[in-house]
Parts: sequence; C-alpha cells; structure tokens
Amino acid sequence: MNTCEIPPELDLHPVEAGVCSNGNWSGQGEELVSINPASSEELARVAGATPEETLNTIQDAYDSFENWKKLPAPRRGEYIRLIGEELRRFKEPLGKLVSLECGKVLSEGEGEVQEMIDIADFAVGLSRTIGGATLPSERPDHRMFEQWHPLGPVGVITAFNFPVAVWSWNALVAAICGDTIVWKPSEKTPLTAIAVQKICNRVLEPEGLAGVFNLCCGGTETGERIAADERLPLVSATGSCRMGREVAVAVAGRMGRSLLELGGNNAIIILDDADVDLALRAVLFGSLGTAGQRCTTTRRVLAQKKIFPTLAKRLTEAFESVIVGDPLDPKTLVGPLIDEEAVNTFEKAVAAARDSGGEILTGGQVIEGPGFFVQPTLIKAGSGMEIVREETFAPILYLLETDGLDEAISAQNNVRQGLSSAIFTDSVRNAERFLSVAGSDCGIANVNIGTSGAEIGGAFGGEKETGGGREAGSDSWKAYMRRQTCTINYGTELPLAQGVRFDLE
Ligand code: NAD
Repeated sequence: MNTCEIPPELDLHPVEAGVCSNGNWSGQGEELVSINPASSEELARVAGATPEETLNTIQDAYDSFENWKKLPAPRRGEYIRLIGEELRRFKEPLGKLVSLECGKVLSEGEGEVQEMIDIADFAVGLSRTIGGATLPSERPDHRMFEQWHPLGPVGVITAFNFPVAVWSWNALVAAICGDTIVWKPSEKTPLTAIAVQKICNRVLEPEGLAGVFNLCCGGTETGERIAADERLPLVSATGSCRMGREVAVAVAGRMGRSLLELGGNNAIIILDDADVDLALRAVLFGSLGTAGQRCTTTRRVLAQKKIFPTLAKRLTEAFESVIVGDPLDPKTLVGPLIDEEAVNTFEKAVAAARDSGGEILTGGQVIEGPGFFVQPTLIKAGSGMEIVREETFAPILYLLETDGLDEAISAQNNVRQGLSSAIFTDSVRNAERFLSVAGSDCGIANVNIGTSGAEIGGAFGGEKETGGGREAGSDSWKAYMRRQTCTINYGTELPLAQGVRFDLE
C-alpha cells in the first residue's frame, strides 16, 4: 500500500496539540493515535484534551460568543466566505488528508472538502436571508413578528466517516447565526480536524476572532463532558445510535437541546418496471462507496420477483469487478474499513447472515493486510433475518425479493432507523405512492436516485433511531438560533388577547 506523507501545505508538522481554544494550542490529555487504515501504519500522535482543557475551551467559546453574536450577520457571513476561499485553496491537500486518515477514495476525499466549500457558500447566502415571519395580530394597531437570535456556544461531536464535512454543516451555519463552536472530532480522525482548525485560525486570528471555532480532540469522555455542560445550549452529535441515545439523555437531563444525526439502514426498492442500468449504478455507489461506511449507505435492495434474477447476476458481476485497494490510487473504488474492530464487525455480520440462512453470492472474506480491507459482499437474504435490520458499517449488501410495492414499502420501513430511502420505477403511480404518507418513513426519499450522496441544499437527517435532526440546507439554520415572538402596540388602547377584559370600573 502507498503510505503517502501528510501533505506539507497543511502545516501539520509536528502534530502534537489536539486542543485549540481561542487560537491557543495545547493538549495534555490522552494521546490519540491517527492510523492510515490502508496500511495500518501510524500517521501521527495527537495529545487530546484533559478534563480541565475541555472545560476551559467551553469557557472560551462562551466568552467569545459575547462579541461574535453582536456582529451583524452579513459581517459574520463575510468571514465564512473567507474561510470558504481558504478551503478552495486547500481542497487538494485537505482532500488527500481525508483519504489518508479515514480511507475513502481520493475523489470522495476531495468531494468532502467540496461539500465544505458548498456549505460555506450556502452559509454566506443565509447570512443575508435568515429572518422571521410577520404574523397577523388579532388586536387592532398591533404588529406581531418573530425574530431569531443567536443561541450560544454550540458543541459539535462528529463521526470518523465524514471527518470534516459534518463539522462544516454545523459550524459554518451556526457561525453565521452568531454562535461559537466547540468541536469534538472522532478520536479516529484528529488530523483532519486539526488541519481544518488551522485553516479557520488563519482567517479569524488576525481579526481577533479566533474564539469562534474551537477544537477539543479526545475520546468518549471528552464528548460526555461536552454533552453535560450547561454552558452549551445545543449539542449536535453525529455517530452511532448508541452514542446518540447517551448524548440525548445527558443533554435533556440539563434541559439543553440536542441535534442528532445517527445511524441508517437504507433500502432501495427496485420494481420490475425499473431502468435496470440506472438502478445498478445507484446500488453500486450506494452500497460500496466509502466502503459501505456512510450513514446513507444502501444496505438493502428490495427487488421485485421478475427483476430479481437479473439484479442478482449483474450485481454479483459488478461487485467482483470493483477494484479494492489503495484509496489514493485513482483506479480504486473501494478503500479500507476504518480499523481492525470494523473488520471484526464485518466478519461477525457475514457469519450471522450465513447462520440465519443467507446465501453469500459474492465476497464475505477479509483481504489479507496490511490495511483493513474486506471484499465487497452481496448476500441473498430473507426479511426475517435479524442481521438485515442492523447497520453494519461495511460493504455488505443484502438482496431481498419482494412481491410488489406494498410489501417492499413495509419491509423498507420495518427497521429501527429512518434515514434515506429510494425507489427505482418508471411508473409515476408507484413513485408517488412511495412518496405518499403511506410510503417511505425516512427523512430522505428519492425516485430513480440512490440513497447516498445528498445535496447540501435540502435539510439532511432522518427519523426514528436516526435521531430526528436536520442539518445543512433548507431551514435547518433554525436549530442554531432562539426564536422570539414580539408584539408591538402602536395604538392608544391596550386590548387584551382572546377578548379578555381587565379594566378598573
Ligand atoms: P461513534 O458513535 O462511535 O462516535 C461518534 C462520535 O461520538 C465520536 O466523536 C465519539 O468520540 C463520540 N462519542 C461516543 N460516545 C459518546 C458519548 N457517550 N458521549 C459523547 N460523545 C460520544 O460513531 P462512528 O463509528 O465514529 O461513526 C459511525 C456512525 O455514525 C454510524 O452509525 C453512521 O451511520 C453515523 N453517522 C451518521 C450521520 C448522519 O448524518 N446521520 C453521518 C455520519 C455518520
């Protein structure tokens, strides 16, 4: 495997400090080891935050909020525009670092940085458009309206599989809203987080605004400290459903708000009348992109009876011809899993599927190291198999046969998660039924598009155990602000609402 160096342009040498608070770097806590999953080699060691450093970073974000919130939103937007420019300048090396540290192929690594740039542009636009409604007052000579104020410092906890984009969905939008940020990245991907923090510092430090974005590398305990801290009115957490459940309880226990983006178990329904070529391409990217380590990964294909044999054959051929290997090689489509534990989880899922009656159509094996590689795996499965209802973060696709649309929708919804869903059909009637109230129960529902690769302009998120949060586009910015209903009386009377009278005789 190619063990490329950390791109020097990112200025990460030597990487030691994993905490950046108000522009000052430190790190006296537990050491985090960043591993290249394609070679199993160590990339760097990063010193995480001590409990005290975490609390001090939160305090700095809390103090910085006082100034930042008072800047007009378009001025805040201008700083985010400059960060977007810096991200454009560093797209290539940062994209490469994403590939190096989390193992996704280079075009996906650079695509992730492009997503940050897109979000920066989107946030700049938002900085001139966020606003509230004016509502009809029932009282004469009164005006009633809503306004939105900055919320406070926001905790952002992120997962390894989108090590930088998910931060940007939260941080760049929250920043134009007037909030400051404390970021706790995944302990598996501290380097990309440090690189992004440095990019932000370069823009904001000369302006005396370094405390807007703050970084706290660390493990679960650092995340727990953020979830528990009353100075953070909102904690946005992306990761497993297990993590989300813990964060939700901790934040609710102190009457804070949480914004949860958790696991998915996404299905594509393919009906007999579908365009097979289109469907195959969507399934291939959906199931094998990022080596099956996306929250939106296609984990199940629910295929109607007639089309099932064709799909099984063509998917088997496609899975066998995909190049698995070095993510930095442009020919590679599937890189490694993140670590040894992920490889073990893959093996356990394949064994569970086999033991419960699944037929391995192709794959199922771990690829000899170095690196954490596994074969793209296609399993003919039955809907009663419990493993099919789990999210296994690996390139395993379950292929299930269904009678027709109703059965397919019911099977698709019959999981605990509710993130992304798709149907392939040439029938308008079937497509509309899939999108109707009796159709998909997911936060994202696509027709003739796969489950993966959402655009940033729409609100992103899912229902049920996926956590209910919405981030990125549409009106997701509202999560980062507090709403105030205001009524102004410009008349000379004081009428009460609901016709109540309270006058002295
Ligand atoms: P993970 O749950 O192991 O860790 C995610 C983050 O949470 C890490 O930073 C971790 O340190 C932190 N954490 C763990 N336990 C915590 C606790 N008790 N309190 C506070 N913080 C805690 O997830 P992962 O393996 O890094 O990522 C994979 C998971 O993330 C998958 O389930 C995937 O579907 C999900 N994901 C969801 C989305 C989405 O938008 N819905 C996006 C990306 C990833």
